[in-house]
Parts: sequence; C-alpha cells; structure tokens
Amino acid sequence: MAHTVNHEQIVEEIVRSMADKGWRITGQRRRLAELFASAEGYLSAKDVYEHMRIEFAGISFDTVYRNLRLLSDMGVLEQFHLADGIKFRARCLMHHHHHMICLGCERTYTFEFCPMKHLPELPEHFQIRHHRFDIFGYCDECSPKLPAEPGHDERNQGNH
Ligand SMILES: [Zn+2]
Ligand SMILES: [Zn+2]
Ligand SMILES: [Zn+2]
Repeated sequence: MAHTVNHEQIVEEIVRSMADKGWRITGQRRRLAELFASAEGYLSAKDVYEHMRIEFAGISFDTVYRNLRLLSDMGVLEQFHLADGIKFRARCLMHHHHHMICLGCERTYTFEFCPMKHLPELPEHFQIRHHRFDIFGYCDECSPKLPAEPGHDERNQGNH
C-alpha cells in the first residue's frame, strides 16, 4: 500500500481532531475513527452504517450520516463523488501529497507534486487553510473495460 502511516497514528489523529472541535469521544466515535483508519478504500455512509450497527445496535443511519458530514467539514474525512455515489475516506494528514483515483476500482495512487506551489498569484487577503487536488481516471486494469462504442469513433469527450 502506498500509505505507510500506521493504523494507531491515524486513529489518534482522527480522535484528536474530534476532541479539538469539542466532540466528546464516545465509543461510537472512536469506532468510527478506527473504521476509517483501517479502511482499505472509500466507504459510503451505508458501508459505515452496516459496520457500526454490528456493535451499536441502536444507531441510526441519520446519526452515522451526520457524523460523516461533520467529520468532512472538520477536514478529518474527505468526501468523494465516485461512480456509485458519495463516499468518504480519512484525509491523509501526516505527510502532504495528492491522489490519483481510479473511477473503476477506486485504487488510489499518491504523488508528491503539489500544484499549490506552482500557482500564479492568488487573490490576496484570503487565508488558505488547506486545499484539495485529486485526479480521477482509470488504472491500467480498468481502462480496457471501458465500453467501446462501435461505429462511434469521433472524438467525443463525453458529457462531463
Ligand atoms: Zn494519501
Ligand atoms: Zn482501476
Ligand atoms: Zn498540495
């Protein structure tokens, strides 16, 4: 895996961010942190709910979803619009880098180049706290599976 930061560090980082925002660290919230720290890929709200309700029988989908949104607002999680809907992932906090994300299998590659360092003048009086830069496309394994449209060979860029 490209991400070499260990699991406990990520859990502690997420829990610390929650505490910084004044959140009480309940068993549910710690479990949420552990879930994202150990997740191999991206989790939908439904994925998280399915995990959480194994241990917390009374938890509602709304509670899970609200927590995910709040954690995204805090910058602990990042929200992605992927092929099968909105998914979440722990933001990489330890070491600055960016991602290329495969829209087919959601495999994620990291790269060190940071476009922020190469931007021309930005508007002044804007206090930048963080930024995102993600590249979406298809990995080697997924790109051949793209539907070939027979007899439709014009350079149509699609309707994105
Ligand atoms: Zn990363
Ligand atoms: Zn792929
Ligand atoms: Zn950057």
